[in-house]
Amino acid sequence: MALLTKAPRGTQDLLPSKAHRYQYIEKVVAETVACFGFYEIRTPVFEHTELFNRSVGDTTDVVQKEMYTFEDNGKRSISLRPEGTAGAVRAFLEHGLFNEPLPQKLWYLTSCYRYEKPQAGRLREFHQFGVEAFGSQSAAQDAEVMAIARHVFDRIGVQNITLEINSIGCPVCRKEYHKALLCFFNEKKGDLCETCLGRLERNPMRILDCKSPVCSAIAADAPVITDFLCDECTTHFAQVQKYLNAMDIDFIINPHIVRGLDYYTKTVFEFITHDLGAQSAVCAGGRYDGLVEQLGGNPLPACGFGMGVERLDLLMQAQNIEVPEPEHCSLYVAPYNEEFSFEAMRLVNDLRAEGVYALTDVTGRSVKAQMKYADKCKADYTMILGADDIANKEVKVKRMNDGTVTQIGLDDFCDDFIRLTINDALSDFAGEDFAL
Ligand code: ATP
Ligand code: MG
Repeated sequence: MALLTKAPRGTQDLLPSKAHRYQYIEKVVAETVACFGFYEIRTPVFEHTELFNRSVGDTTDVVQKEMYTFEDNGKRSISLRPEGTAGAVRAFLEHGLFNEPLPQKLWYLTSCYRYEKPQAGRLREFHQFGVEAFGSQSAAQDAEVMAIARHVFDRIGVQNITLEINSIGCPVCRKEYHKALLCFFNEKKGDLCETCLGRLERNPMRILDCKSPVCSAIAADAPVITDFLCDECTTHFAQVQKYLNAMDIDFIINPHIVRGLDYYTKTVFEFITHDLGAQSAVCAGGRYDGLVEQLGGNPLPACGFGMGVERLDLLMQAQNIEVPEPEHCSLYVAPYNEEFSFEAMRLVNDLRAEGVYALTDVTGRSVKAQMKYADKCKADYTMILGADDIANKEVKVKRMNDGTVTQIGLDDFCDDFIRLTINDALSDFAGEDFAL
């Protein structure tokens, strides 16, 4: 029975108070990307497994150890998405978005699934806000993408997040680098973990991303890619820095960033915080110029990032960042008894149609109990509806914060109530102004 009352390991419920925080993050994200000309894309939660093998890369931890893969009843191998880029690129190709004016700038905020050891900021179901920009090979695009993440952090008010950038080159310069890595790691073969021995043959750069303490200690002294960049990649990297400087976006160069996914080329970056323990990357991304072609399209440069929403939320909590209060009830209509509950229901229904947050009793409680409930709902105004009010076609509306009572006719109740709330808000505002 315990299984029925416990969510699966590594997942979390978003109860209303937490969902409210996420809604706030989503709102900030949507407002930010709109200023950058990015449009939302929604792709399925599952894709053909092959898509992730081919894009994320079958030598990566994500594909080798972390994917939720199963066979469906039609004997297809299906995987829950471990990240957002692969699905976005698949949809981009499937629907011919490359025929639209370029660059095509897409964003998403979706759930992702990875079978990992759950801990703070590391879940099996988590959420990523991501952006993908297709069609520009300019360093301006890399920098613009990084600026989006920086704007989101700034708008929310989180601090102590450092942008670290690196270039991992293109297939041309990486060939030389691979040779150097092979040479370096071959000498240390005896100490590498089982997985890294396999990586040595297939993709030695992956060893640089190994989380085992022994491998990462060895990797710390490995040759760095920045010493092997070709002219084009060197220029590109310098341009990225110039654009970041132009926007006053601080960064440091970290030659050890290689990223855990295979599709990156040239620029890679991470936004790092030291306020979240081991889960230090709040956002990570880079350029992936080969991916569109790798997935069957014509060659098309692209870049993007994924930001962990849970990590952002943890950071907001760690830094005591307040989110705006959820909307609370504007008017609570308390029918004197059941006889008047029909008129009360009509009134709140009409108000709701006008966009007003209005409540009435749906439990059959006494007026006293209703008033207690209205107080818990933080109703700005309350009114009691009884025989006299209906007979006189007029009700008394009480403003709860100062006790002021206003008579409002029932004939034009909605308009008059809305006018009252606007007048009160305006006089509050004027009062504040004078107080200055
Ligand atoms: P890490 O090194 O922490 O495992 P990663 O390199 O696997 O991160 P990416 O694949 O780049 O992460 O995903 C982008 C962002 O998504 C990360 O920077 C992080 O904020 C978030 N993220 C990744 N995995 C998880 C997870 N299991 N739970 C919560 N957030 C995650
Ligand atoms: Mg990971």
